[in-house]
Order: sequence, then structure tokens, then C-alpha cells
Amino acid sequence: MAYTYDNENIFAKILRGEIPNDTVLETEHSLAFNDIRPQAPLHVLVIPKGKYVNYDDFASNASDAEILDYTRAISKVCAMKGVAADGFRMISNAGRDGVQEVPHLHVHILGGRDLGRMLNPA
Ligand code: 5GP
Repeated sequence: MAYTYDNENIFAKILRGEIPNDTVLETEHSLAFNDIRPQAPLHVLVIPKGKYVNYDDFASNASDAEILDYTRAISKVCAMKGVAADGFRMISNAGRDGVQEVPHLHVHILGGRDLGRMLNPA
């Protein structure tokens, strides 16, 4: 599917330096920063610098270099935060049913406590 990117989304503004962020890691193609409303002791968002709406858009259209950099950036954040041993959760919401608030691809990395079951029963 073809996605339309909104240049005025909040993460686009962060990438342009128009609003501040609490950076955890910056690489050539990726940026990781603390979520402004953390839902766990560790709650880091990892975004590609490229204009991708969600993971499907990214996986379909990003270059190999971007995909490699992004994947490794996620791993580096896990290593930096020391969550690999005790576990963590990665979430990437997409679209209406995924209840995506910000239409720029982001992976949430959550950890630092028992996170409970993944979804509440409908
Ligand atoms: P989504 O629901 O799109 O998966 O999650 C968007 C996330 O972005 C939310 O967890 C929200 O707290 C976070 N967020 C929204 N605006 C900002 C902001 O200006 N700065 C930071 N660091 N996080 C934000």
C-alpha cells in the first residue's frame, strides 16, 4: 500500500530540531529518545530519520542501509539500557486499529518491570 507522510507530525518536528527530545542514541539513519509519557521504567522510542509512516511502509520502501541501521539501533538501545537479560517489549502501533498517535514509524521499547500480558481481552 502507498502511504502519505505528514511532514507536520511531532516526530518530523523532532527530527528537524523544532522541538526538543531526550536523546538516548543517534545513528546515521535512526534516532532513539525517551517517551514524554513513559508507561514503564524504560520507555524509549526508536524512529528512522527517513519519512516512513509505519513499519509496513519502512519494511517495504526503506533502503537496506536504513533497515540495517534501524534494526541495530534497537539492539544498541537494549544493550545501553541493560534490558536484554530481564526482558523487554517492542511495540509498533500502526493506523486506526493499531491506535497510532504519531504517523511516523516508531518502535516503543518498554522494560524495567513485569509488563503483564500483551493485550487486554476485548
Ligand atoms: P503511538 O500511540 O503513536 O504508538 O505512540 C506515540 C508515543 O509518542 C506516545 O507514547 C507518546 O507519549 C509519545 N509522544 C508524543 N508526543 C511526544 C513528544 O513530543 N516527545 C516525546 N518524546 N514523545 C512523544
